[in-house]
Amino acid sequence: MQDLIARLLSELGEDPAREGLRDTPKRVEKALRFLTSGYTADIDEVINNALFTVDYSEMVIVKDIDFYSLCEHHLLPFFGKCHIAYIPQQRVIGLSKIPRIVDVFARRLQVQERLTLQVAEIIQEKINPLGVAVVMEGTHLCMAMRGVEKQNSFAVTSAMFGAFRENARTRMEFLELIKHRQVSPTSVEAMPAGLTCVGD
Ligand SMILES: [Zn+2]
Repeated sequence: MQDLIARLLSELGEDPAREGLRDTPKRVEKALRFLTSGYTADIDEVINNALFTVDYSEMVIVKDIDFYSLCEHHLLPFFGKCHIAYIPQQRVIGLSKIPRIVDVFARRLQVQERLTLQVAEIIQEKINPLGVAVVMEGTHLCMAMRGVEKQNSFAVTSAMFGAFRENARTRMEFLELIKHRQVSPTSVEAMPAGLTCVGD
């Protein structure tokens, strides 16, 4: 990978041998390996020993989880906040594990819609709750930095299953708690793939 980065620097008109860039290929490789480490992460290892049996079914909410990801169309960052809720039926997951689950899927080449859906799906799969809801609010540098459609560089996506999809009151309770009344439960499915990052 370092040879490719050195070549990329040359293609950009730079001198990969100048002092400031001498270690750049090494640093870029290290950064990219970390930022895409979600591909090799084992989700079961991440949530290892953090599933607990309970007999309550009140909504569990984790708000304002920071996420950082890379847009698969431009390899530029998009980042923001993720809010997750679920209604347990027999199992809960340790709260500290939820941001780590988000990291597993954020540290890949992504589009925000798919990232949102994958986080919801894995929670559905691993703890089989009565419902799960995920809302992500992201700023896309591929839009903002290039000056294209600046007004669209901020995107909100959502994925909702079970009670959050079927019960408007449950959905509203969650959206009220995170202050997003206007998010529709089907907004992920309604969007064409990659709408949060468009343009060439
Ligand atoms: Zn992009």
